[in-house]
Amino acid sequence: MKRRDFCKLMAAGAAGMMINGLPWPSTARADDDAWTKWFCDNAPPQPPKFAMTDAHFHFYNFIAHTDGAQALIQAMNANKVEHIMFSGMPLVKKWDRQDQRAPVYYLDNNSRAYWYSATDLLIARTVLYKIPPKDRYRFHPFICGVNGTDLYAVEHVKRMLDEYGDLWHGVGELFAHRDDLTNLTYGETARADHPALMRIYELAAHHDLPVVLHSNVSSRGLAAKLLYWPEVENALTRNPQTRFVWAHAGLSRYFQAIDQAKYTAKLGALLERSPNLHIDLSWLAFENYVAPDPTQGPLKCWLDLIGSFPERFMIGSDSIGEFSYDKLNCRSCAHNPSGMKYAFNMRKYWVLLAALPPRQARMVGRDNFLKLLPARVRKSPA
Ligand SMILES: [Zn+2]
Ligand SMILES: [Zn+2]
Repeated sequence: MKRRDFCKLMAAGAAGMMINGLPWPSTARADDDAWTKWFCDNAPPQPPKFAMTDAHFHFYNFIAHTDGAQALIQAMNANKVEHIMFSGMPLVKKWDRQDQRAPVYYLDNNSRAYWYSATDLLIARTVLYKIPPKDRYRFHPFICGVNGTDLYAVEHVKRMLDEYGDLWHGVGELFAHRDDLTNLTYGETARADHPALMRIYELAAHHDLPVVLHSNVSSRGLAAKLLYWPEVENALTRNPQTRFVWAHAGLSRYFQAIDQAKYTAKLGALLERSPNLHIDLSWLAFENYVAPDPTQGPLKCWLDLIGSFPERFMIGSDSIGEFSYDKLNCRSCAHNPSGMKYAFNMRKYWVLLAALPPRQARMVGRDNFLKLLPARVRKSPA
């Protein structure tokens, strides 16, 4: 669908919603069983004909552990991923002394999380000393280790740029509103338009660096109100020179009350008026909302939206620290199909890529992220 047609349909759809009900199916329910079956039965569709780009990735998990560079390269090769956004993890989970069992994921217990800037130094050192030179062109390092409520945070980004300069290809994933993790983090809540983040967006634009931003569109209790939408829109509007990727399209856990037809219509209008906005479909946003049933493919409203703005969407594993190839088996994934395993987190997009026309599939699955990178990177042979 052409963008103009989408916008027309959007306008008609909005009217239709009020008079005749929803113009698109709005069912969006997580169906882990369906996804597990799809993945473990290795059902169609087949992999894309091109090597994919993983536009959203964390080398470390929430306790700053990682399977390491070699395991990652193996996982990328095994899953036909050529390029990867390479970021650390801005928060780590504290192990409180009364906790008998050491937490790994932030939801494992009630202990708090805190901001961990060392993640960026570790990322830089990994690129310099652990990634084989022949593979470095595939890695796109991002600075993420900032507390987005600290007006000094921009100074950390400057220090990283001073120290490692052109090593960096972007900034993010910056954390603003982020479901339970927000509630487990010490101090003030980060918001997309917090003055501390605004300073970073400005600096990023100055250095031609894209910014990946995680800001849930709403809170759990009032999901359908899209409480935090205005903060994201404010950040986009006030930083027209900054290239943003809105991670997970603003979606998160507990958002079943958000009508996907209305939401995609609203996103379409935002994309239309914000040329600096791009969207990644990573994490559970994809299997919970975009394509709740892999055998049916993505919801039509999402396909229409992506087809209308094919140059603005991308995919990413959002894997965190754990991607060893030997951990990818159906026995383990049967318990948790999206359990941060690299193969599932990339192969799930075959469902989307097969549903898009080949040219658009290549844009979404590979080229769009690469086009967002600084001009100096885009110009270098890759
Ligand atoms: Zn995120
Ligand atoms: Zn992430």
